[in-house]
Amino acid sequence: MKLTVIGYWGGFPAPESATSCYLLEKNGFILMIDAGSGALSRLQKYKDVLDIDALILSHYHHDHVADIGVLQYALLVQSYVVGSKDILPIYAHTEDREGFEKLTHEYTEGVAYDSDGVLEIGPFSITFLKTKHPVPCYGMRITDGESVLVYTADTSYQDEWIEFSKEADLLITDCNFYAEQDGSQAGHMTSIDGASIAKEANVKELLLSHLPQYGDIQDLVTQAGTVFKGEIHLAQEGLTWQREK
Ligand SMILES: [Zn+2]
Ligand SMILES: [Zn+2]
Repeated sequence: MKLTVIGYWGGFPAPESATSCYLLEKNGFILMIDAGSGALSRLQKYKDVLDIDALILSHYHHDHVADIGVLQYALLVQSYVVGSKDILPIYAHTEDREGFEKLTHEYTEGVAYDSDGVLEIGPFSITFLKTKHPVPCYGMRITDGESVLVYTADTSYQDEWIEFSKEADLLITDCNFYAEQDGSQAGHMTSIDGASIAKEANVKELLLSHLPQYGDIQDLVTQAGTVFKGEIHLAQEGLTWQREK
């Protein structure tokens, strides 16, 4: 499977970029993960909106769902322009009823996921872990049967991440804070929190994401590297990660 980072800022997008949004591809199937602010604009540098097969959401904070409305408009316009009548499924939890209901529009349909079960979307099997965050949010363990990617979405540190991330090929962590800060009250992690999970879970590679707009973000890599000795990537638009066994 192939991951492409589209948006990676926490809270709001820095100029010319977007908040949380990732594309995961396998055999031509494209799963979009979260749809943050600016995501639809940046996405079109890499894919046609109509190429997206499914979208899954971790939670309903603006920096993860801000572009849902404009995605719905894009699909509506495309239905006139190229006659596309495909309905895009948007998988999400229903613990925010109002948020969930907004996912259904002319060419999108909200589909509830059961966080206790295994969700099959195209070639991907997904399990969930409830995160530690001010609103209900779910991290995801995604496999195509060959490799495993874990996405913490938004969370402060909790031990449960270690078991959930065990032996993953890639761990994408919420890295909204620097080592010397405390992210726990805000529901986010530091560079050290994410690196500790990566180390204890024995993952192969770590991708630091949901980044702060202040400070020198390269420091996050240096800090994480004091704990985790595997390969560490810093999220940026267009960064790709691919595993084929
Ligand atoms: Zn966020
Ligand atoms: Zn959040």
